[in-house]
Amino acid sequence: MRKAVLVSLDAFFDADIKELQPDSTLSRMLREGVFCRQVKTVFPALTYPAHVTLVTGCDPEDTLVGQNQPWQPDTPNRHRVWYWERKHIAVPTLFDAVKAARRKSCTVLWPVCCKNPAVSWCFPEVHPLPGENIVLKTLRYGSPAFILDGERRFGSLRQGISEPGLSNYAAAITCRAIRRHRPDLTAVHLIDLDEMRHHHGTFSPEARDAIRRNEERLDRILQAMGETPGMEDALLIAVSDHGQSDISVTVNLTETLKKLDLADDFGVQSNGESAYFFARREGADPARALSLLQSRLKENGIRRLYGPEDLRRMHAVPGPVFACEAADQVVFSDGLDENKREKATHGFGPGHPGENCLFAVFGKGIRKGIELPSMPMRDVAPTIAGLMGVPLPSARGMDHSREILL
Ligand SMILES: [Zn+2]
Repeated sequence: MRKAVLVSLDAFFDADIKELQPDSTLSRMLREGVFCRQVKTVFPALTYPAHVTLVTGCDPEDTLVGQNQPWQPDTPNRHRVWYWERKHIAVPTLFDAVKAARRKSCTVLWPVCCKNPAVSWCFPEVHPLPGENIVLKTLRYGSPAFILDGERRFGSLRQGISEPGLSNYAAAITCRAIRRHRPDLTAVHLIDLDEMRHHHGTFSPEARDAIRRNEERLDRILQAMGETPGMEDALLIAVSDHGQSDISVTVNLTETLKKLDLADDFGVQSNGESAYFFARREGADPARALSLLQSRLKENGIRRLYGPEDLRRMHAVPGPVFACEAADQVVFSDGLDENKREKATHGFGPGHPGENCLFAVFGKGIRKGIELPSMPMRDVAPTIAGLMGVPLPSARGMDHSREILL
């Protein structure tokens, strides 16, 4: 079995490739490894559903993780729980496949991976709800000895969960895990670029700086691999989950439902640049709602509607009865989230310019300078499993490892 280090660059997409420094590890991965710059993200293009698909090879219709948060129609955003725990994923993951092969995994801030018995060293991605203590919660959701070791050594690198400190910290504990534990599969999630895009805009100078910092973090991770006996032959794999686009107008879809006298029948959950609608009661008629909305697209900031058949075709999670896609510059609110005043976001559907994510593989035994054609995100996990030599028969995507290995 071959070891792998999987690095997720949150919110990196194909438009960013031209920004890379020619001598960075990421540039080298594209020049001297195998890559795809058109990995089509899932619907909706959100961090949690995408990261779950990246490690399962299944779409939200099978993973049952179709949003960052379960639908909590009457709970304000900061009180809502997220899909933090492994138990929310309905299918096996790469970490389960590694464990079944009697090998070990390490995850650092990897989404939907808390309380995961298949992971030996877990720094969990979880955040405190009002009244909760983040330290105690982190220890409870992850691997306490691993967390305390990281905190002792690198705690000074971060200030709470703000960026870029958190991603610097994540990269540091990843390098330490590689050197100390030599995990068979290491997976780290770097949030810096996503955060900068939300706050400063898709192509802001701050976003460019975050791309640079991510390149430096990848340099350090590759260096740690090269300096660690037993890790020199491991594969370095870079992935991403979605792009972003700029927003300037917020549309509250709960108000839209009220105006159209649909609020008793349907509730809405915002995905940012799209939204899900759920039936609140039996007998609610989605066809009537769709036809009412269809005649009022523009005034409600809607680019297009997705009916039940569209959702099935997009492999969307079961539950929502229909959905809509935001018009240019529009972000949807469900009336429950605080006004975040973001400059860019995601959550869109297929065909959006931010849908093209990265998959790049680099290491010994890999073909050089090969670009793979467009693939759905569900192909990534079976391909990683194929490269590592662990079975993942539950994956619905295609294994491209034979196109990648020498
Ligand atoms: Zn993301």
